[in-house]
Formats: sequence, C-alpha cells, structure tokens
Amino acid sequence: MALSSGSAVLSVPALSVVLLPEQKGKRCDACLRLESETIRLRNCSRCHSYWYCGEKCQQAQWKAHHKKMCKAYNRYTASTAFQALPPNEKLDSLLLSHLVAELFSNSKEEPLALLIEDQPTPISTFSSLLSGPIVNQRIPPICPMGPNDILLEGVLDELYSRFGNNNFVIHSHLVSIAHGIFPLASRLFNHSCVPNAAAKYIFTESEPVRMDVVALRDIKEGEEICLPYIDPALYQTRQQIFNLTYGFVCTCISCAFAEKIGPIPQPPQEPAEREMFERSLRNFVFPSLDSQPFDLVLPKEPYETIPENMLPALHESFLGSLSEVFSTTSHDGPYRVALDVGVTILAVYALLYPPNYPQIGMHLLEMAKTAWNAVVTGDNDENAQAAEDRLKDELRVYLTRCQDILGIFGREGDSAGGPLEEIGILRRLLVGND
Ligand SMILES: [Zn+2]
Ligand SMILES: [Zn+2]
Ligand SMILES: [Zn+2]
Repeated sequence: MALSSGSAVLSVPALSVVLLPEQKGKRCDACLRLESETIRLRNCSRCHSYWYCGEKCQQAQWKAHHKKMCKAYNRYTASTAFQALPPNEKLDSLLLSHLVAELFSNSKEEPLALLIEDQPTPISTFSSLLSGPIVNQRIPPICPMGPNDILLEGVLDELYSRFGNNNFVIHSHLVSIAHGIFPLASRLFNHSCVPNAAAKYIFTESEPVRMDVVALRDIKEGEEICLPYIDPALYQTRQQIFNLTYGFVCTCISCAFAEKIGPIPQPPQEPAEREMFERSLRNFVFPSLDSQPFDLVLPKEPYETIPENMLPALHESFLGSLSEVFSTTSHDGPYRVALDVGVTILAVYALLYPPNYPQIGMHLLEMAKTAWNAVVTGDNDENAQAAEDRLKDELRVYLTRCQDILGIFGREGDSAGGPLEEIGILRRLLVGND
C-alpha cells in the first residue's frame, strides 16, 4: 500500500526507557511527561530516586521493573563501579537494569525462558534481533536484584549484545530527553542516511512511551521504509559508527557517493576564501536566493552527487564551526550575520539530509526567531524601512517552509509548547507588527 507524506507507518511501544540525567526529577520516569501546572511529580517514598506523575504511572512501573530495583538502586548508583562509567555507559547500565528487572518481573521462571518462548512478546522480539559486533564488548554493571542475579549469567551477554544497535534516542519537540528500546522498530526498519521516514515519540499517562514512525515523503508500494539510526550529518564518522556499534555497512545513495569520493577536502581557512566558499555554497543550493522578493526554495530530492568544489561543505568541522557562530549571533547579534550563517547551515543540511527532514524544520524555526529579533531590535543598516521589509519577507518565508516540514512530522512529545505552537506565535506577532 502506498503511503503519503505525513502518514503514520507504524506505532510501537517501548520495552524500556531511561531518562537522560539532566531530565531526572523533571519528568515522570514512566511516561516521560514533563512536570507542569497540571502534572505534579512525586518521588518513590522508598528510594526517593524515581519520580512519577501519579499513582497509575507509579504502579505500572513498580510492576514492570521498579520493585526489583528500588531497594538496591541508591547503593548501585553510588558504587565505584557505576560512578567510574562514562556518561553514555551509565545510561546503558541503567537501561539494561530496567530491561533485566522487567525480565524478572515478568517471569517466575528463570529469565532465559522468556528469551526462548514461542509466543512473541516485546522481550522475545528483542532477543530475536541480530546482535551487534561483540568485539571489546564490556558489559556495564547492573543494579543488583537479589537471589535472581545468579540466573543472569549468560543472559546479560545475550541482552547486551543486542543493546547498542536497538536503542533509540527519545525526543520531545525534537530535543533529546531519554533513551529507549523499541525492538519492533529495530526489526522492521533498516537504517538509511537518506531515510524516507522518521521516528517521533508520544507520551501518555500510565502507558509505555510510543514511537510513531512517520513517512517524510510519499512512499510507493513495495518501497523499503528506512529510519535514521544515527544523525546522517556525521558524514565522515558514520560509517565507522555503523561498523562498531551496529555491525553493518551502509550502502544508501549518500554512503555510495561518500565511498566513491574518498576523503573530504578541508574547508578553506583563510577568511576571504572562506567567505567566497560559503557564498557559492548558498547559491549552489538556493539559486533563487538573491531574487526579489526574497525566496528560499529547498531541494525536492536528495542529492545523489555533489560537485567537487562543494565537497568541503561535508567536512564535519564545517558544520561545527557554522553552528557555533550561529548560536552566538542568533542570540546576541549581529542578527544579519546570524541570518547569513543560518542560510549556509541550511545549505549544508540540504546536502546532508533528505527533503522534509525534521532537523531542517527546526533550523528554519531558529532562523525565523532570529529574523523576528532583528525586526524588533531594529538591528539594521541605514535604510531602516527597506531593511525591515526585507527581514519580514525573510521571516514569512522561513515560517512557511518550517510549517511545511514540521507539519509533516506533526506533534511530538510534551503536549504543551513545541515548534508548531511557536510557529503560530511568530505568525501572530508578525501580523500584529504589520
Ligand atoms: Zn507518568
Ligand atoms: Zn523506589
Ligand atoms: Zn548511508
């Protein structure tokens, strides 16, 4: 069956989730909803280390895994073995503990029975997945769970070998907040660096976090649906990540091109040369950029090849330094500089990401906010009125393009706020200012 852009391909529940450390105490540990006027968190009265939006979430999580971990949790997280782990392995350790506790909570028998039983459950789906490469695999310590721990030998290896390549970063309003295991999603969707679908996350009280897979463009019948497992913008390092973490070689059109061209040339360092390069990049991706009135038309198809003189734009250091300048100048000015750098970033994104990729929409929203800041502060050159009119034209175009892209992706995560609401606010401000 053919799918139109924006339609939901599939909705799958998380098997286990864990909040990023900076989100702990700000969100419900079970449903991940953010504390607000209407959502009040309270913590587990025994360990004081897990927070819940209410009775329902607390009970659901108690049954799912917390009863196995509550008693030993604080001792485990304070232990030298845990404290010595780098931040990403601490998260793995916690997520693995949740997963193991879930196995124990669901089974009176030994946990291995759950891994091999015939009836498909999220856990058996997880265990049926291919394991990643096991070179140098070091299993992080997990929360002690009492007399059952002895049963874990062998099982932990099994679980952890499927870990790295089946975890997803959960976001709300496209900002990372947690990690989660979604076995069905990993089984059903392969990776592509130019994916035709993307994952978004839905939080509902007392229910497992849900991943909704959304079509980013029209998908023909029989066409494979792919998700990005990692950020495709990691142009130079992604192949190594696939190899080490996932144990596969990506052969998407973007990686096939990367393989053909070999090492990416350094972007020019000398300021005048660099300025010239950035200008020609902007004009290459957006040929109508200098037209009157202002317009910015994003490419409709992913790039299969990129001309040789544009290749330095794919160097990871290029996007890194542009983003640095953009984040400083878009807050503190000069806004004209921010908007120019912003368009250069947009050009790089257009080379790296497929059309309608949510990250492009998020950047357009930042561009719109910057243009609005420029309008209200009058941070312009001599010809104030003409400059303001031009800024408003830019703002309108950014908002339209942004709405086009994020409208396809749809609402995600926390119900209050979010990019779509911000677009609405900026639109109203602009009308009020005219
Ligand atoms: Zn909750
Ligand atoms: Zn507790
Ligand atoms: Zn690829």
